[in-house]
Amino acid sequence: MLNAQDPNCLFCKIVKGEIPSNKVYEDNFCYAFYDIDPQAPVHFLVIPKAHVTSCGEITKWNSDLVGHCFEAIAKVAHELGVTDFRVVANCGEQAGQSVPHLHFHVLAGRDMSWPPG
Ligand code: 5GP
Ligand code: ZN
Repeated sequence: MLNAQDPNCLFCKIVKGEIPSNKVYEDNFCYAFYDIDPQAPVHFLVIPKAHVTSCGEITKWNSDLVGHCFEAIAKVAHELGVTDFRVVANCGEQAGQSVPHLHFHVLAGRDMSWPPG
């Protein structure tokens, strides 16, 4: 069973429109919007509408959302004319996750270094 939205979650509030965002894409299962603090010329986030805390909480019951988010990533990248990009999912505070609702960063428009810091 999919998790419902969490009334105290920042990104659940964005999905519901309680907090404004600059939307780039939306369908029944996911929502994409530009990051408020962009780290590249193109930087948007793709999130499932259902509340999933992080990559560490993906199970066989909700993993279809991940595939769906990646379909959205490809679709939006294509629509923006972006061919080279990086997808990042931070999981847990030590890895840099600051919002505990699963999200995929999509960064493009500049050279990327490896490994990430
Ligand atoms: P994390 O640090 O969890 O991997 O990524 C969270 C991202 O959400 C950050 O890049 C941060 O800039 C972005 N963010 C935090 N609050 C808001 C907000 O209210 N609106 C938008 N558009 N992005 C936000
Ligand atoms: Zn949430």
